[in-house]
Amino acid sequence: MSDFNVVVTLVAAKEHTCCECQGVIAKGTKYDRDSGAQDGQGFSYKTCLPCSEAREWLDKQLRQMNALNDDEGIEFGALHSDLAELASEERFLGVESLRLLLGIAERRNQSVKPQGDGS
Ligand SMILES: [Zn+2]
Repeated sequence: MSDFNVVVTLVAAKEHTCCECQGVIAKGTKYDRDSGAQDGQGFSYKTCLPCSEAREWLDKQLRQMNALNDDEGIEFGALHSDLAELASEERFLGVESLRLLLGIAERRNQSVKPQGDGS
């Protein structure tokens, strides 16, 4: 097995898109880059820091619930749906999962460029 995964926090030299919220990682802001190889395929994902924190929190919750094995992790791009799943299991009473979901939704909304109509 040659699977590996390295996470580094970098400062964006140019604009990037977060793999979780699709929000803009502006030039000069910090982001996490996960890169590595899985099943012989190289990968690289960029995640804005708020999403990265949310992923860390969710990862911890799922491990506490034994919903993740040691060799498993949250799939890239699946943070929002995994969070929503947890929130529904908590019957939407878990304040933290709702707060994180809201944050992702807000960053998503901001990333949607307004159409140039009505001006
Ligand atoms: Zn993000």
